[in-house]
Amino acid sequence: VAGLKLKNIEKRYSNGFVAVKDFNLDIEDKEFIIFVGPSGCGKSTTLRMIAGLEEISSGELWIGDKLCNDVAPKDRDIAMVFQNYALYPHMTVYDNMAFGLKLRKTPKEEIDRRVREAAKILDIDQCLDRKPKALSGGQRQRVAMGRAIVREPKVFLMDEPLSNLDAKLRVQMRTEISKMHHRLQTTFIYVTHDQVEAMTLGTRIVVLKDGVIQQVDSPSNLYSKP
Ligand code: ADP
Ligand code: ADP
Repeated sequence: VAGLKLKNIEKRYSNGFVAVKDFNLDIEDKEFIIFVGPSGCGKSTTLRMIAGLEEISSGELWIGDKLCNDVAPKDRDIAMVFQNYALYPHMTVYDNMAFGLKLRKTPKEEIDRRVREAAKILDIDQCLDRKPKALSGGQRQRVAMGRAIVREPKVFLMDEPLSNLDAKLRVQMRTEISKMHHRLQTTFIYVTHDQVEAMTLGTRIVVLKDGVIQQVDSPSNLYSKP
């Protein structure tokens, strides 16, 4: 099981600012959870705490049946896709995708199998020898997702992954992400500003304001009201 439980999570930054407070949420295995809310409401902070990139000030983070507050990011069974892709510019697409697995000492043949499979799923198998600068924005975003897929994590975190793409590509990638969720059968937690993305992708939407959950509901309940 890869459900998550966030119990009374609070984030107080070193300057004293409380970015997230009283955060309580149970996320079911295989859910597609969306965080929405205005800029600065604590979406990224929450995602980064789940990923282990930001320390949790108080409260408990459970991933499956494991209390993860003090677990290193690489041991959390989580992969994160960033808005700015964070690809290594000097590495080929193949090496970008393989990097996280190499760090974890995954056998070479297994790395090769996973990279080629993910590349096929994302339709970037023609690009494996190229460097990021020779790719389109959409292809770069696919590589960033491929790097997450090859890890075969139990939970995917995505921080506005489509916000740097043009409108047409955004629609296309939205469909890709939806397919990815169905195919991989894993839990997704997804941050967006875009109401259409939230509606089409989410099983449930968490609305945040000033670091506090305002509402948690299905897309149809949240957005169908007159
Ligand atoms: P969102 O992702 O919803 O735009 P963030 O989680 O990035 O919001 O930020 C939430 C709040 O925390 C913002 O007011 C932001 O300025 C503040 N914040 C983010 N990082 C830090 C930090 N390192 N130190 C102090 N405050 C921060
Ligand atoms: P993992 O598979 O463990 O997530 P990554 O290759 O995604 O490994 O990244 C390892 C670390 O390096 C992460 O903290 C990530 O944020 C950071 N990172 C990834 N790409 C870049 C980059 N192009 N420049 C600087 N840091 C990066």
